[in-house]
Amino acid sequence: MSTFAVKSLLAAAGLSVSAMALASATLVQDVRVFDGKAVHERRSVLFDGAVVIDADFRGPVPPGARIVKGAGRTLLPGLIDAHTHAFKGFDLPVLFGVTTQIDMFTAVPIMQEAKRSMAAGQHAGRADLFSAGILATAPNGHGTQYGVPIPTLSRPSEAQAFVDARIAEGSDFIKIVLEGGGHGTAKMNSLDIETATALIEAAHQRGKLAVVHVSTELDARAALDAGADALVHLFLGGAPDATAVDSLARLAKRKNAFVIPTFTVLESMAGVPGDDLLGDADLAALVERDGAVTLKARYGQAARPQLLATPKAVTAAMSKAGVPILAGTDAGNSGTLYGISMHRELAALVEAGLTPTAALAAATSAPAAAFKLGKRGCIAKGCKADLLLVEGDPTRDIKATRRIVEVWKDGQSAGTLRDAKRQQVALEKSGSKRQDLPADGRISQFSAAKLGSPFGSGWMPSTDQFAGGKSTVKLDVLPALPDGQVPLAVQASVAPGLPFAWSSVAFMPGAQPMQSVDLSAAKVVRFKVRGDGKTYQVMLMGAANGRPSSVPFVAGTEWAEISVPLAAFAGIEPTAVAMLAFSAGPQPGEYRFELADVRLLAE
Ligand SMILES: [Zn+2]
Repeated sequence: MSTFAVKSLLAAAGLSVSAMALASATLVQDVRVFDGKAVHERRSVLFDGAVVIDADFRGPVPPGARIVKGAGRTLLPGLIDAHTHAFKGFDLPVLFGVTTQIDMFTAVPIMQEAKRSMAAGQHAGRADLFSAGILATAPNGHGTQYGVPIPTLSRPSEAQAFVDARIAEGSDFIKIVLEGGGHGTAKMNSLDIETATALIEAAHQRGKLAVVHVSTELDARAALDAGADALVHLFLGGAPDATAVDSLARLAKRKNAFVIPTFTVLESMAGVPGDDLLGDADLAALVERDGAVTLKARYGQAARPQLLATPKAVTAAMSKAGVPILAGTDAGNSGTLYGISMHRELAALVEAGLTPTAALAAATSAPAAAFKLGKRGCIAKGCKADLLLVEGDPTRDIKATRRIVEVWKDGQSAGTLRDAKRQQVALEKSGSKRQDLPADGRISQFSAAKLGSPFGSGWMPSTDQFAGGKSTVKLDVLPALPDGQVPLAVQASVAPGLPFAWSSVAFMPGAQPMQSVDLSAAKVVRFKVRGDGKTYQVMLMGAANGRPSSVPFVAGTEWAEISVPLAAFAGIEPTAVAMLAFSAGPQPGEYRFELADVRLLAE
């Protein structure tokens, strides 16, 4: 029996909670409380174990309870990020007060492991996860480009089986993608509206919500007309038409839908910085270098802030029409980071016209209600003790959510986790330095014994197999050339199947493979190559999410020296490079080239 259950029995027997010793209880005294919907000045909140015992506690301090001063501070329910992709950074959300993530697509084993540990009560250090699991998309559609092989569908007749398979895997709801590409991105296959409609009906058939990814007004209307429970993005656009905006808001209201605008990722796509989370010393003290790179990255090459006019206008109109607005960051994408980005999303919702209180509801009670998450996103008796204590009053100044005093998840303070992360970040900063390059720049030390390098973890095969592909590669050390350099023969077999198939030999600059290193001392990669006359790629992978950046070269039949400036790798931050590869693909086929004398040079 839980301590809470024991206390409920005692309370039922007429014994007051205050008379008992509450060894693990915490009392936040004299604090402003935002309970998920409304503000209450000067209350005391008692919680114990994983639940709130009393949200307006008036008795004497229970013996053994820890007392936390609340004067001048605000206690909020732990924040709920209603749109994330929880495939890494699992330690981050709680550090920033995000205690629940609603995931819109992750790998099934990650979802299942989170559920297991939540059910076992072992999830206090991590945000709880509610997940769509695998999203519903067309073959080669949006969602298939991330290196995780996923089932797809293309016909209404496949919808029920698809939905049932997701539910069997543990999906809490169904996420459907309508995405034909746009805003400078490549054209993509999209589900047709008949299949999307069938998926929505199939989800409803099983009592599950069906939420839809859209990136255009047309798709947003189509999704709502088809009975979608939610739009999980709004869409970019300049010069919004007031009539169209109002009619879309009325349509959403009429259909009882809710909306997750995801301003954080829209700002990334529009190439604008949002506001400067890392300029805030308290927040930045918890962000490691790789995270900072991800957060600062933008999908949009040029800043086009005018494109945010439409999502702002639609958000304001929907809020006015009474459509529930949910705060979601789309963390997992470039320009976002788990946990911390929620503080940008909240401010963006206020900039779009929500009151600070409405924005806070969008991150607490609204997602709890919309996704039927039970007693969370609230501060009341019996609510989950996922709590965030901040300095000041975020119900007046939304940016006060960034002044975090303490976070509790399942009633347990995240103070030690926050301290440990602060130390880790400080250590990384003091120890962080540019990787020195060898005097001659040479990073290939191939021998029969090993594929060595003067720093990092050496050279190794890298293919699309980890993403479910079937490409293979064979590496052979050849006899030394007249200049003493030992070439490596790369025999690559690129298999069809993945749109981004590859087969390569890769240099790993970090002490661990795929650990990023500051390679900003290098300006050029130079190498000798010969081969079968086919086109290959030099591929650079950064620490940020997203795809590697490639520069093509031809391996002619005679040895040739090729130089590629690192600046040619679009979107890769030279201070955080995780891999340098020489790669065959994406066209399927048999390839062979020889590589020697690879150097990273300062000019
Ligand atoms: Zn997303």
